[in-house]
Amino acid sequence: MGRVRDPSVSRYAAGRLSPIRRVADLRRLRNEHFDVLVIGGGVTGSGAALDAASRGLSVALVEARDLAAGTSSRSSKLIHGGLRYLEQLELHLVHEALTERGLLSTRIAPHLVRPVPILVPLLAGGPAFRTWHRAYYGAGIAAYDAFAGMFSSGRGMPLHRHLTRDGARHLFPSLRADKIAGAIRYYDGQVDDARLVVNLARTAASLGAAVVTSARVTGFLREAREVVGVRVRDLEAPDQPEFEVRARIVVAATGVWSDDLSQMLSDVGVRPGLRVRASKGVHLVVPRSAMTGEAGLILRTPTSVLFVIPWGGHWIIGTTDTDWRLDRSHPAASARDISYLLDQVNTVLDRPLTTGDIEGVYAGLRPLLSGEADSTSKLSREHAVVEPMLGLLLVAGGKYTTYRVMAADVIDRAVRRLGGIAPPSRTDQLPLLGADGYAAAWRDRQDTARRHGVTAGVVEHLLERYGTLTVHLLAMIAADPTLGTPLSGAPEYLSAEVAYAALAEGALHLDDVLTRRTRISFETPHRGTESARLAAELMGAALGWDANVQAREVEHYLARVAAERESQTMPDDLTADAARMGAPDVRGIAADRGGDLLKVDL
Ligand SMILES: Cc1cc2nc3c(=O)[nH]c(=O)nc-3n(C[C@H](O)[C@H](O)[C@H](O)COP(=O)(O)OP(=O)(O)OC[C@H]3O[C@@H](n4cnc5c(N)ncnc54)[C@H](O)[C@@H]3O)c2cc1C
Repeated sequence: MGRVRDPSVSRYAAGRLSPIRRVADLRRLRNEHFDVLVIGGGVTGSGAALDAASRGLSVALVEARDLAAGTSSRSSKLIHGGLRYLEQLELHLVHEALTERGLLSTRIAPHLVRPVPILVPLLAGGPAFRTWHRAYYGAGIAAYDAFAGMFSSGRGMPLHRHLTRDGARHLFPSLRADKIAGAIRYYDGQVDDARLVVNLARTAASLGAAVVTSARVTGFLREAREVVGVRVRDLEAPDQPEFEVRARIVVAATGVWSDDLSQMLSDVGVRPGLRVRASKGVHLVVPRSAMTGEAGLILRTPTSVLFVIPWGGHWIIGTTDTDWRLDRSHPAASARDISYLLDQVNTVLDRPLTTGDIEGVYAGLRPLLSGEADSTSKLSREHAVVEPMLGLLLVAGGKYTTYRVMAADVIDRAVRRLGGIAPPSRTDQLPLLGADGYAAAWRDRQDTARRHGVTAGVVEHLLERYGTLTVHLLAMIAADPTLGTPLSGAPEYLSAEVAYAALAEGALHLDDVLTRRTRISFETPHRGTESARLAAELMGAALGWDANVQAREVEHYLARVAAERESQTMPDDLTADAARMGAPDVRGIAADRGGDLLKVDL
C-alpha cells in the first residue's frame, strides 16, 4: 500500500516535478515494488495514476516522451457531452460526458475548464425548411442542457438561447448573411488539454506517485504466465542499460500505441482482446482578427462536424478524420488537409480564409477501438478495459472529457486483482493542484496585481493557467524581476513561465515548453522560432544546460518547425510524412510506424 507523503512537506512541494524529483523518482522505479505501474502519460494514464494514488496505492507513471506528447495535447480542447452522440441517441455517453463536464468545471479543475459559447448556425432556406431546422436543433440542444441540469452533478455552464439572423450576426459578424436564417447559442467547456494533463500528473505526484517522463517501456517482465513489471529505458541517459520496474499490476494507457504493447506479449500467444487504430485529426489556428465573432461555431460537414473555437487571441478550426498508418509520434498535416478545412469553414464566412491567414497547424491521432471481432462502430466511441494477461490491464478509447471514468474503471479492476485493498475512486471529490480557493483568487485578482506590482492582465493570465499556484510564479518574479518580462516573440507569456515549466512542471526539452507547457508553437506565425533562444537560456538556467546543450535544443526545435512547414505543403499523407520525418525527435525516438507498415519499436 501507499507511500504516505511526509506531512512536513506541503502538497505543492510534493507535486513539483523538478529535475531533482526526477532523479529521486528514477531511483524509486529501480528500488520499489509498486502496487500499480501506469504506462503512458496522456490524459488516461495520468488520470489513472491519480486515481490509484488517491486511493492510497503506491504508484509509478512512466511516459516515453513528455506528458501529453501524444493525442492529449492535440485535441479540439473541448470538454463536451457531444451533440453528435445526442443525435445518434447514445444517451448514456452524453450523460456520462456532461456529468464529467460539470465536475471538471466546478470542482476538479475550475481554473482550467471554462465555458465557451458556440453557435449552431441555422441555414437559410424556405419557411418549412427553416421551421424544421430550428425545431430539430432546438429540441436537441434543449435536451443537451436538460441532461446537464437534471441528470448531471452541477451544470457548470450557462443555458442555450435562440437567436434571429440579426442576433447571430451580432455575435458573429463574419457569418455570411445570405447563408443563415438564425442560430442557437449553447455552451460547452474548453480546456488547455496539455496543461490539464500536467496538472493531473502533478496532483498524482503530490499524493506520492513516482512520475518519470522520457522513460520508455521496452518490454514486460513475466513470471510464469503473469506480468510482474516492465523494462524501461531512460531516454535522457541513452548509454545506460535498461532497468526493471516491479509492480503488482501494470496498466497500459498508451492510446494509439496500444497494439505495440500487446505485441510485446506476442511470443506467448496472448490475444490482447482489443485493437486500436489511429484516425488523424488536423486543426488550423488563425488570429482572432481573421474573423469577427464572440462565439465559436459548429458546422456540419459531409462526413462529420467542424468546430471554429475562440482560443485567446486566436481561433482553432478543426477537424479532419482520416485513417493514419504512418509515423504516430509526429503525425503530419498535408496541404490537402489544410485546404479541406479552409473550404469547409469558408462556406459560411463573408471573407474567405486563405493559407496566408494560418498561424499554426497541429495534427493528432484518435485512438479508436476496433475490437478483435470487429463489431466496431459502437466500440470505437466507448472505452474498454481488457486483461490480456494476469497482471496487465489495457485501457483505451473514450475521449478526453471522460478520462476520469476510464481511470476509475481500470483502477477498480486493478484493486479487485490486488484483493480489494483500496477504497472506491474518490477523484470526483478531488480538486487538482491549483483548484482549491480558485474562485476567491479570481475575485481578488486586482488586489493581487496591486500587491505584486504587476497588471491585472498578468494575474488573470496566470490564474487561468496555474490556478492558485499563481502565487509561486509571482514569488519567482519578486525574487528575480527579469522573470516578469514578456517572452520575446510571444509577449502574452512571461519568462517566469518557461523557468517554472522546467523547475516544477517536468519539462525536459525546449519542445516541451514551446509546444505543451505554453502553446507558442501554434499560436505564433513564427511557430516559436523567435522565442526559442531566450526560452533555451531560461530553461538552461533552471536545468544546468551549458551553451552546447542550449544550442542543440534550439537546433532541434528549428529543424522540427522547418520539417512541419514543409510537410504542410505536401499534397498527401505519404509525402507529408516523409517531409516531417526529415527532423529527428529530440528524445532520439526514431521511426514510429503503425501496425501493418514497417514495424519499429517506439
Ligand atoms: C483531432 C482530435 C480532436 C479531439 N478532440 C477532443 C475533444 O475536443 N474533446 C474530447 O473529449 N476528446 C477529444 N479527442 C479525443 C482525446 O484527445 C483522446 O481520446 C485522448 O487524448 C486520448 O488520451 P490517451 O491518454 O488515451 O492517449 P495519449 O494522449 O496518446 O497518451 C498515450 C501516451 O502513451 C505513451 N506511450 C506509448 N507507448 C509507450 C511506451 N512504450 N512507454 C511509455 N509510454 C508510452 C505515449 O508517448 C503517449 O503520451 C480528440 C482527439 C483528436 C485526435
